[in-house]
Amino acid sequence: MPTPGHIAVVGASLAGLRAVETLRRRGFDGRISVVGAESALPYDRPPLSKEILQGKWEPERTRLRDPASYDELEVDWRLGVRATGLDTATRELELDGRERLGFDRLLIATGASPRRLPGTPELDGIHTLRTLDDALAIRAALERGPRVVVVGAGFIGAEVAASCRERGLDVTMLEALPVPLGRAIGAKLGRWLADAHRDRGVDLRCGVGVAGFEGARRLERVRLDDDTLIEADLAVVGIGVAPETDWLRSSGIELRDGIVCDATCATSVPGIAAAGDVARWHNPLFSTEMRVEHWTNAAEQGAAAGLRLLCEDHEAAPFAPVPFFWSDQYELKLQMVGHVSGEDELRIVQGSPAEGRFLALYGREGRFTGAFGLNRARQVMQQRVRIAEGISFDEAIAQAS
Ligand SMILES: Cc1cc2nc3c(=O)[nH]c(=O)nc-3n(C[C@H](O)[C@H](O)[C@H](O)COP(=O)(O)OP(=O)(O)OC[C@H]3O[C@@H](n4cnc5c(N)ncnc54)[C@H](O)[C@@H]3O)c2cc1C
Repeated sequence: MPTPGHIAVVGASLAGLRAVETLRRRGFDGRISVVGAESALPYDRPPLSKEILQGKWEPERTRLRDPASYDELEVDWRLGVRATGLDTATRELELDGRERLGFDRLLIATGASPRRLPGTPELDGIHTLRTLDDALAIRAALERGPRVVVVGAGFIGAEVAASCRERGLDVTMLEALPVPLGRAIGAKLGRWLADAHRDRGVDLRCGVGVAGFEGARRLERVRLDDDTLIEADLAVVGIGVAPETDWLRSSGIELRDGIVCDATCATSVPGIAAAGDVARWHNPLFSTEMRVEHWTNAAEQGAAAGLRLLCEDHEAAPFAPVPFFWSDQYELKLQMVGHVSGEDELRIVQGSPAEGRFLALYGREGRFTGAFGLNRARQVMQQRVRIAEGISFDEAIAQAS
């Protein structure tokens, strides 16, 4: 494959930026164009549900790079522009339904967008949280002291609930499943997290669904599916995200809850790679396909997929990381590594929830699959290395105890 002259990137956020930085660091001196639907230069999303909602940071602090350092990347930024189609035969992107942009190689890093509850009415006061604009709109509403309902006790919901409690607001958090984050961290730690929120004043209700939002023009109450009514001025809906692939529907690229990639982040169309929240790839370390919606994966996969665009097929390296994420809720710093299922065996090997710090390991069929830490960042990162080494669950317990 000859060196490409023009690399296009769709998605001007974490994965796209890390790809561009990697291409330049590795000496690619051709043309790079980055198309981004948001008008801002790349910024960091994790602070949106934390420092931004708490009112501790202003938007400038979320920048992923110093604006003065962008010149050295020599990128043609097409911000506030949406890719609306892809023609793989002519190797052209369609932008905003009219303009065309040709490319030699393409990286797709369009991330994901919040799911909405079906039938959500057009009332003021119902929000989702993905972008800086979303966060600033919620923050402005929080300043009016609303009664808050958070729908969904996943990571985003739990962080929003924590940030609202830190502001002293009344918060009800609704979760359809029996415990928060049960699928991600297991039922036992899910129960611990539920208690952590209740101890800090959240009215957490699990096993309930939302039947609808009610109000004249603004949100006034949330109706649960058992007809219970909760008075509310603000609702933040955090029920998960969907990969941003609608614009690729007629492109011929293989899609299945994300863009399907091989182990090297290459899509089904030669010369096109994908990375970040939008990419579903085969991770050879776990012998399975996965799509990961966390910061570290977007950064690492962005870099890997950027390099992939410069490689011949036979020289491409597999992308085989141990997934990692963190979440900050109140003073609780949660970290997790690995690829676990809610049914994996769980063993607390250091500390305890009562001590306010602990390390727990997960295993399945003798295999060491993951680790979860509360205020135990260094120890969790050590487990990331051990999981990659493929040690057994018993060895992991012996080494960590
Ligand atoms: C509020 C919040 C808090 C988070 N906190 C944490 C945390 O504590 N820890 C953690 O590990 N992870 C966290 N995450 C997840 C992390 O931020 C994401 O995994 C990461 O942003 C994914 O990066 P990405 O580049 O793949 O996609 P995104 O950051 O979603 O960026 C995709 C970009 O592509 C643009 N785009 C989409 N479609 C098009 C199109 N057709 N044309 C042009 N542009 C397009 C979008 O507008 C967006 O700017 C958080 C996410 C959110 C929203």
